[in-house]
Amino acid sequence: MKGLMMDYPLTLTHFLERAAKLFPRKEIVSQLPSGTHRYTYADLHRRARRLASALERLGVRPGDRVATFAWNHHRHLELYFAVPGLGAVLHTLNIRLFPDQIAYIVNHAEDKLIVVDDSLLPVLEKLQDKLQGVQGYVVMADGPLPETTLAPVYSYEELVEQGDEAYEFPRLDEDDAAIMCYTSGTTGNPKGCLYSHKALVVHTLVECLPDCLGLSERDVVMPIVPMFHVNAWGLPFAATLVGAKQVHPGPFLHPRDVAALIQQERVTITAGVPTIWIGLYELLKTERYDLSSLRGIIVGGSAVPKSLIEGFERDFGLQVVQAWGMTEMSPLGTVSRPKSHLEATLPEEELLELRAKQGIPAPFVELRAVDDQGREVPWDGRTMGELQVRGPWIIREYYHDPRTREAFDRGWFRTGDVVTIDPEGYIRIVDRTKDLVKSGGEWISSVELENAIMAHPKVLEAAVIAIPHPKWQERPLAVVVPKDEFKGQITKREILEFLSGKFAKWWLPDDVVFVERLPKTSVGKFDKKALRKQFESYTWPPREEEGAD
Ligand code: ADP
Repeated sequence: MKGLMMDYPLTLTHFLERAAKLFPRKEIVSQLPSGTHRYTYADLHRRARRLASALERLGVRPGDRVATFAWNHHRHLELYFAVPGLGAVLHTLNIRLFPDQIAYIVNHAEDKLIVVDDSLLPVLEKLQDKLQGVQGYVVMADGPLPETTLAPVYSYEELVEQGDEAYEFPRLDEDDAAIMCYTSGTTGNPKGCLYSHKALVVHTLVECLPDCLGLSERDVVMPIVPMFHVNAWGLPFAATLVGAKQVHPGPFLHPRDVAALIQQERVTITAGVPTIWIGLYELLKTERYDLSSLRGIIVGGSAVPKSLIEGFERDFGLQVVQAWGMTEMSPLGTVSRPKSHLEATLPEEELLELRAKQGIPAPFVELRAVDDQGREVPWDGRTMGELQVRGPWIIREYYHDPRTREAFDRGWFRTGDVVTIDPEGYIRIVDRTKDLVKSGGEWISSVELENAIMAHPKVLEAAVIAIPHPKWQERPLAVVVPKDEFKGQITKREILEFLSGKFAKWWLPDDVVFVERLPKTSVGKFDKKALRKQFESYTWPPREEEGAD
């Protein structure tokens, strides 16, 4: 027997229409090269409708892919609603990818139009010949359009101006595709994820819960995480749904710009990857800003150092909340907030350890960790396993990609992250499966060794990779960048002595090599793939052969 409910589709259009009706004067602020831009939800609604009608006139049809190549600002937000609203698919391109990857993605997604910031035109101009299927470029600029070799080219502002304000968004099916994102390609060519309206609506509702990101109409929300990085983690949608004021930093991501904008707009919730907040933390040590409005800094994308969580709280009274997610998960997976009984009973140091874990799953995210044989490992906080997830905003396949086959295990998505899960359900990411060192049938976490080495006062950065070994299958090699002032004054022995006592003996790297720099990916993570290639022909020093017992 089925329930007797109205047939009311869960689509993103409702977010915009609700905000315009109930919070028409609430502000949306964007920091543009031409200055601070301010308007309201009523303006957003009006311009998004005009834009949608203009895009239809340009030939955009339901299901067509419309790409963006842009920073965070009000125009990008208009596209977030106009494109899915008319039944097309918004494809947010990562402006920091290598040019060849951008071309691969545009062609793979078969993007019909690309809407681009004028400041980013040069990147696309160089790629133009490779983008065969693109039928036009729409340029977002504050003043007159700059000269460009792209063709045909349209002015975004002219399209909005000529659009029809009486346009009404069509009724859509909630299972229709709304947005498309590609992974950042740390493991080969980027893979496409195609999110439905329903998935994004349910994701947004859960994200707003108090124990997840906890958003309310009273908040002032500033995503520093780019709108091209998994929908800025869903924050523009969440802020619109609840009717919160939004602040978008445009291309201004220097810690000083971020601090000034928080102060000026009285931001209450902001979010981004650890490097942004490490920069802000360093700045706040020497310059004064009034950040008293801030009640939460959401950090994710890579592991959040314990010292950062502790430092922000101790030195500036600011709360850092860690979240974990993936492009394949729209992206929210877990959030790390201590449960109330743990907060009441655990000593400070253990609470900090807990907050440095990646957290417990959000409602509707199911997770498990499995070993080499596909058996679920116990939630004991010790046993490592590969994390697998399922839920309503997790993809069931990659867009037109045979790599789907190896990404799923009996209905569960294989995250490629290796974790432990404690009895309270908190996960801790210890590594990615492909970066683990598999030594004599045991697993060694490259991430834990790296973090320990990076705590050495003479070390700037360190990465640990697996190198084939005749006896143990693989052994860890540490690749270390010394701080400038210690170049040539740091030895392998010092590093190994620093690590001994912190790990079982068989975990210790068999060799330590010093380099000038480590390769990084487009989103600033260590590029282990490139590093492994760099050390392809590395051979273990002879006396280390007996190494690891
Ligand atoms: P990519 O996988 O291409 O790097 P994503 O942005 O989808 O791009 O990154 C997802 C991965 O980032 C996760 O699988 C995980 O390894 C890592 N990650 C995300 N958040 C965290 C976090 N809080 N702690 C540790 N790792 C994280």
